[in-house]
Amino acid sequence: MNLKGILQRRTGKTIEITYTNNRINIISFRKQGGTVYLRLQRLFKEAPLDVIYEIAELIKNPGIKTPLINEYFRRNSWRVRKPARVRGKIEPVGRVYDLKRILERLNREYFGGALTDITITWGSRQRRHAVRKRTLGSYNYETRTIRINPILDSPRVPLYFVEYVVYHEMLHAALGIKRQRNGRRAVHTREFKERERQFRHYEEAIQWEKRIN
Ligand SMILES: [Zn+2]
Repeated sequence: MNLKGILQRRTGKTIEITYTNNRINIISFRKQGGTVYLRLQRLFKEAPLDVIYEIAELIKNPGIKTPLINEYFRRNSWRVRKPARVRGKIEPVGRVYDLKRILERLNREYFGGALTDITITWGSRQRRHAVRKRTLGSYNYETRTIRINPILDSPRVPLYFVEYVVYHEMLHAALGIKRQRNGRRAVHTREFKERERQFRHYEEAIQWEKRIN
């Protein structure tokens, strides 16, 4: 039986599937009359049965967590990734801090070495590309690139604070974007904040950030 057939049998609904190339919003659906209009990232055409069953559960109960769907997409997303479109140069080695070393250390300590496909770089110092001064870091979900504001590449900034900013962006990479019950997308979820507090120097980092603001 094909994907559509399995979903119809598991949900008891008529399902219309549209496949998309969307790499951020990988699954969404709306119900109209007796029909469920499902938009699926095309990678799910080849999803294994347990993942398809989870899609059916999600259709029946939109609030559930979807670890199998997320994990399947994470493991296969390289197949639908566009060739790297990272803007600007990748320069992880700064005057004071080497972001790649920081990333690798944090990856071992907090992520069990799982975040191996992340690119990290200092942002541009040139004004025309400059990130807003208050934006200390950013994460691009499409290119899986962390960009750190070069104002942090200074001997006056403690290592633990640079690590804290990098760690925050790594959490975005690890946790992705969650779907809320109201359909909105959430990034700084409760889970995110709990994980953030696990950072070894969390309190010091918060205090230091207050001092500079
Ligand atoms: Zn954030």
